[in-house]
Amino acid sequence: MKSNRRSFIKSSSLLIGGLLYPRRNIFGAINFFSPEGIKEIRPNIGIFTEKGGTIGWYVSDDAVVVVDSQFPDSAKHFVEELKKKTKRKIDILFNTHHHGDHTSGNYYMKDFVEKIVAQENCVKLQKKFYGKGERKEKQVYANTTFKDEWELDLGKEKIKASYFGNAHTSGDAVLHFQNANVVHIGDLVFNHTYPYMDRPAGCTASGSIKVLEKAASVFDKDTKFICGHADTDENVTFSIDVLSVMRDYFSALLEFVGKEMKAGKTLSEIQKAAGVPGFEKLTERWEGAKEMNLKAAYEELST
Ligand SMILES: [Zn+2]
Repeated sequence: MKSNRRSFIKSSSLLIGGLLYPRRNIFGAINFFSPEGIKEIRPNIGIFTEKGGTIGWYVSDDAVVVVDSQFPDSAKHFVEELKKKTKRKIDILFNTHHHGDHTSGNYYMKDFVEKIVAQENCVKLQKKFYGKGERKEKQVYANTTFKDEWELDLGKEKIKASYFGNAHTSGDAVLHFQNANVVHIGDLVFNHTYPYMDRPAGCTASGSIKVLEKAASVFDKDTKFICGHADTDENVTFSIDVLSVMRDYFSALLEFVGKEMKAGKTLSEIQKAAGVPGFEKLTERWEGAKEMNLKAAYEELST
């Protein structure tokens, strides 16, 4: 194991500058009413699924944590909903990875956020892919980064971020709310739908297999997971079994494409396949998703 760069901040320090209004005004500001788009999945923890990668949130009288930020317009809707629950500022905004549907809303949320945290490669990739041209002006980057792990004691809740290696990109991290045992796993899982395989950002099927196995060994049967994308809003949350299904998909993808390559088929011939054996029912969230997966595996196996 490499040495971990850890950050421990006592919950008391969050109270310095972390409040939008005096503390005594805060609660009963939490309510458990679920307006459209925002939903509680365990006490004080929930999701928001307007568009792009699912936002995760934690609200208590000690702290507010938000995971991923979607886009500026949906981030605004989310913050409006959050304000109905708390008068606190957002103590921590965590980015699971750099993709625009997870970080573009940083631009809107920055005025409500104390600290943005991400794995160090997340920021590098965000700068590389969005830090030039017309998107440059609206990039807001994490101001706290870590390599392997990062932890914070929030009082009633403890959060721990872990980087398990290259998978969906080379900068994915998962965030575990340890007391509630809820994990936002970002785009390491696409549930019932073809994953977005961004090879220029470091995505590999073999890396995804290793990382999903690692995650499955760290968390347990009681863990509730939130992922970025699924075929339905209901399926963005799930239990640990789904990690092995996702791992099995990447294994089946590599095996299938490998066999086809051995049989002498070209990429375009392989891309005509009806699907990956055993996973024919996956849905396409965008046209060409299946072809993208077959191409990504072909390129990975050709190197
Ligand atoms: Zn992504």
